[in-house]
Amino acid sequence: MLVVTLQRDKCIGCNYCEELCPQMFKMSKKDGKSVLLKSTDKKGFHTVRTTPEFHESAENAKQACPVKIISVKIV
Ligand code: SF4
Repeated sequence: MLVVTLQRDKCIGCNYCEELCPQMFKMSKKDGKSVLLKSTDKKGFHTVRTTPEFHESAENAKQACPVKIISVKIV
């Protein structure tokens, strides 16, 4: 199981995550921040649990994020 978390309030809207992993991240037209698709919000930490299909691209998004607010784990 792939677990991805986004600390959304700290997003600076650089768009890297959507470019590298569009299957999981989409920029919001409303506030310009990244949206972790199908995630649930718990105190500002948006988390999704899914199949490991997009592990590599999610990992690339994590590495590229300039403010380091994406976490990617296999559990
Ligand atoms: S890479 Fe990080 S800062 Fe850039 S849009 Fe994605 S979550 Fe936001």
